[in-house]
Amino acid sequence: MNVVFLILAIVVAIGALAYYRASLTMFTAAIAALLVVGSLTDTSGIVAWLIFLAVALPLNIASVRQQYITKPVLGLYRKIMPEMSTTEKEAIDAGTTWWEADLFRGNPDWHKMHNFPKPRLSAEEQAFLDGPVEELLAMVDDWHSTHERADLSPEVYDYLKSKGFFAMIIAKKYGGLEFSAYAQSCVLQKLTSKSMMLSSIVGVPNSLGPGELLQHYGTDEQKNHYLPRLAKGLDVPCFALTSPEAGSDAGAIPDFGIVCKGEWQGKEVLGMRLTWNKRYITLAPIATVLGLAFKLYDPEKLLGDKEELGITCALIPANTPGVKIGRRHFPLNVPFQNGPTQGDNIFVPLDYIIGGAPMVGQGWKMLVECLSVGRAITLPSNSTGGIKAAAMATGAYARIRRQFKLPIGKMEGVEEAMARIGGYAYMADASTTMSVGAIDLGEKPSVISAITKYHMTERMRTAINDAMDVHGGKGICMGPNNYLARGYQGAPVAITVEGANILTRNMIIYGQGAIRCHPYVLAELQAAQLEDEGAAITAFDKAVFGHIGFAISNFFRTFWLSLTGGMFSHAPYNDATAKYYKQMNRFSAAMALMSDVAMATLGGDLKRRERISARLGDILSMLYLTSAVLKRFNDEGRQVQDLPLVQWACEDNLAKAQLALDELFDNFPNRAVGVVLKRVVFPWGRTLRKASDKVEHQVARIMQTPCEARSRLGAHLYLTNEPGNQLGRVEQVLLDILAAEPLFDKVAKAANKRLPFYRLHEVADLGLELGVISKDEANKLRLAEEGRLFVINVDDFEPEYLAADNSLTQQPNGADALNEQQAKKTKAA
Ligand SMILES: Cc1cc2nc3c(=O)[nH]c(=O)nc-3n(C[C@H](O)[C@H](O)[C@H](O)COP(=O)(O)OP(=O)(O)OC[C@H]3O[C@@H](n4cnc5c(N)ncnc54)[C@H](O)[C@@H]3O)c2cc1C
Repeated sequence: MNVVFLILAIVVAIGALAYYRASLTMFTAAIAALLVVGSLTDTSGIVAWLIFLAVALPLNIASVRQQYITKPVLGLYRKIMPEMSTTEKEAIDAGTTWWEADLFRGNPDWHKMHNFPKPRLSAEEQAFLDGPVEELLAMVDDWHSTHERADLSPEVYDYLKSKGFFAMIIAKKYGGLEFSAYAQSCVLQKLTSKSMMLSSIVGVPNSLGPGELLQHYGTDEQKNHYLPRLAKGLDVPCFALTSPEAGSDAGAIPDFGIVCKGEWQGKEVLGMRLTWNKRYITLAPIATVLGLAFKLYDPEKLLGDKEELGITCALIPANTPGVKIGRRHFPLNVPFQNGPTQGDNIFVPLDYIIGGAPMVGQGWKMLVECLSVGRAITLPSNSTGGIKAAAMATGAYARIRRQFKLPIGKMEGVEEAMARIGGYAYMADASTTMSVGAIDLGEKPSVISAITKYHMTERMRTAINDAMDVHGGKGICMGPNNYLARGYQGAPVAITVEGANILTRNMIIYGQGAIRCHPYVLAELQAAQLEDEGAAITAFDKAVFGHIGFAISNFFRTFWLSLTGGMFSHAPYNDATAKYYKQMNRFSAAMALMSDVAMATLGGDLKRRERISARLGDILSMLYLTSAVLKRFNDEGRQVQDLPLVQWACEDNLAKAQLALDELFDNFPNRAVGVVLKRVVFPWGRTLRKASDKVEHQVARIMQTPCEARSRLGAHLYLTNEPGNQLGRVEQVLLDILAAEPLFDKVAKAANKRLPFYRLHEVADLGLELGVISKDEANKLRLAEEGRLFVINVDDFEPEYLAADNSLTQQPNGADALNEQQAKKTKAA
């Protein structure tokens, strides 16, 4: 054995042990064993042993390590770590981590993922979907609601209230439905497939709002009063956080309350005087109870020795004298009830605080905790419903609509757009199901909820755009028969609410993910804050040395997995999906490595380097979405028919992860680190490609051909063929057209003519005349023609119908009006 061989053996041993995340003791023992072999073969001498002992002894003897290494490092750490604001701390503490933490940590256990139970509906939930949801959808006329009435009809509101649609999250003991998150998601998806306005109205009270806050934090008295009323629809809730000055930076709300004594129902009580000016509040114009977030101050120190008590949430009955509600905003032609509310110096008792006096100042924590659940349900489900509806409608339309004598869905250019819609539909369903499944397992997955909210709403916007392109003028001309345009118009609403998307991508996903999912960073932060120095050193020692081992392991894992393209790494199935698991092993290790490198080189500055944070978040997101696709494929019995959808989604995500990593290296603030690590992670360049034209063709075919894979794509949508449900009608027409095509071919052949595929009633007559089709078959052709015309035609109107309604006497209280008021005040002053 020569020296080079020994050094090589030590490096390989370190690499292999690091790859498998061995402990420090294992490392020490393995290197000692190699040195023994070296001594026995006269390859290593006393110098090698001295170096080994100089490194190994202080590292392995805890007291020495803590005194001479950990203590100075802790001092340095305390100096360089930036202060965190209370709201940041509360946001980071909120919620739990789940499967995304495994992906973040560089070594995902695929068996663990596949063992998470598949979400299922109870018999009661299924009956609700088949009964009240179908009935409700049959009642709703979306055009009437959005264009003519700018609201749902009173009958629809009554039905929603009486059947508990607003009480899906409320416990049964209070009269609610107490549905699983999965059931809520299925209901919302189904509602969206007919009316985005309807699903927005139903989604809000079931998401972050009085119902959710009361159940978690309310006093018994508040719960007993409000929850049964909310469940029966006797109270309509809204939740008011946003104000003109504070949108994304919601922690900076200027709305305030002053603790004071005042008269309430004839008695002097301890209360607060509230002043607020909120906007964009969903359901506010019709709310009977207002959930209000404000900052509470106690200048007279009536509650304790603090003057600034922090963000607090209270429930204010809308009929409290002085509360202003009723005016409406007009959100993008999807005019669900949304508007401003104001209150000026309104006295209410302290009992109005959700949870009473003990919850003073806990408002932000309450909100972020509830948001970590709600954000994963409502918007992702509504968006998923929208994407799936776009996939079904576009598939059918592209098969029915012909140009250049061909269904447009057979043209390669159209196939590209269709594949995107189909691939997103499969993935959106997979991701939303996985995320709500986590909630049903008891998680409050704050990072996952941000990932799911951002990506489902963005994918929905892309899918609707693609669907509009494929539909051409049919998507553009609005009217009762247009099933796409409202989704297209309303897409930015979902993008903006519950954390506007640019912020969500750039700050929230990785910002929360880095600290919550990392196995050591939070422990280091917490250790550094301990007041007992001995305890701080012990805790910090454990965290920081775990962290170092973790980083070394990730480096070796990344190096090996990148060099081999993950080829030898573990995949739980040895089929067409194996390569995706292997690529994810590779990207997961690279993500963990780059995350540590970014934190180590940028420190507190990482918070401001939003685009670095965004790209790290993108990699984590793509890993999560891809794993959701593979889980769905497995949970649904590994259906071979679905493989093109799986392939498309996985390849799209992995190519996006690759791009995010590449851009991260190219833009890494420390150029040397960026260049070197790019070589490590991409030794062979960017090798992953998006799905091939062949796969896109297969996806487009699935979307246009009634089959099991297509039915799975449209699961939980409202596809019932009944008057007023365009989506259901289009589905039926697709079947009718497919049934008519062979008959059409038969007639054309007998007539020896290249007939165009329209005026099918005349083709039917010709077929009967030639005696090649039966009466029944002729009727099928006539039915297909009727449906075909329904599908390709658009609405037109008498000009008067579209004219603006001049009977309005009130002007909107818009920016000009406000500026005018301001100008008057300034002039007066
Ligand atoms: C239809 C509708 C319904 C709503 N319903 C409710 C409701 O019921 N209750 C309620 O309280 N609120 C509600 N909102 C408010 C909603 O949550 C806010 O609109 C949202 O938080 C964004 O605030 P903003 O519109 O003021 O945008 P701004 O905060 O002004 O942001 C503008 C842009 O800047 C980006 N941005 C801001 N800060 C950063 C940053 N640090 N890094 C990167 N990008 C950043 C944002 O992502 C956004 O793209 C609703 C809004 C709408 C439009």
